[in-house]
Amino acid sequence: MTVVLCTDKLVKRFGGLLATDNVDLTVEEGEIHAVIGPNGAGKSTLINQLCGNLQPNEGRIFMGGSDVTMTAPAERVRRGLGRTFQITSLLGESTVRQNLSIAFQARLGNTMRILDAFSKHREVWQETDTMLAQSPLAHRADIKAENLSHGERKQLELLMALAGKPKVLLLDEPMAGLGHTESRDMVETLKALRGAVSMLLVEHDMDAVAAMADRVSVLVYGRIIMTGTMKEVRESAAVREAYLGEDIE
Ligand code: ADP
Ligand code: MG
Repeated sequence: MTVVLCTDKLVKRFGGLLATDNVDLTVEEGEIHAVIGPNGAGKSTLINQLCGNLQPNEGRIFMGGSDVTMTAPAERVRRGLGRTFQITSLLGESTVRQNLSIAFQARLGNTMRILDAFSKHREVWQETDTMLAQSPLAHRADIKAENLSHGERKQLELLMALAGKPKVLLLDEPMAGLGHTESRDMVETLKALRGAVSMLLVEHDMDAVAAMADRVSVLVYGRIIMTGTMKEVRESAAVREAYLGEDIE
């Protein structure tokens, strides 16, 4: 198995609080790896260190064998790390198609040479339209982003992250705030990407995790107390205890 992303004894402290406690985590090529855990367990803190927005106090982060611990977020993106854009980064006045084209432009780059610019321009729109046509937003291409439903915005954010052609995608609660149908659609979208892109996702929705995760790591007080299949996690007494009555069915 090829490991596309991993951490080695990662530690993050906020004052006296150990938010990440010697975390060893691997994401294998093609897998959907979910991180679950109670509120305040350190899930977002972990994601933020992986994408480079937060610097760990100790430990290492590797992408495809290279140590990226000290690299800037943009460098990690260049090496194949993707993460979903925040909703606020969508241009409300612009259409779905225009928003997505910006993400493709960012990857294909700008050029000052007029002929290159012309062909890049065409490539940007071709890639945009190809991706849109295969997406659940195909019929919403000309709708302004501000008129999308919450679920559609989440889908657009995901498409924008995929436009960067990432090898590993980090998703912090992709189902948050989604209704039943919308989260089912998002699960289907993510499942359809299995194999094409490796994913590390933090998620509260246990049904969603059960429906798509190949492996699940359980984070409690900054520590990974187990990694296994959802079935193994559900059967673990240690996990049940850690959730202290919270429902993990
Ligand atoms: P989760 O995403 O699992 O709910 P977080 O990673 O957001 O957990 O937070 C883990 C712990 O670290 C919490 O106790 C939280 O209050 C604390 N924490 C998170 N970010 C900061 C910060 N920037 N400064 C101080 N404490 C923080
Ligand atoms: Mg969080």
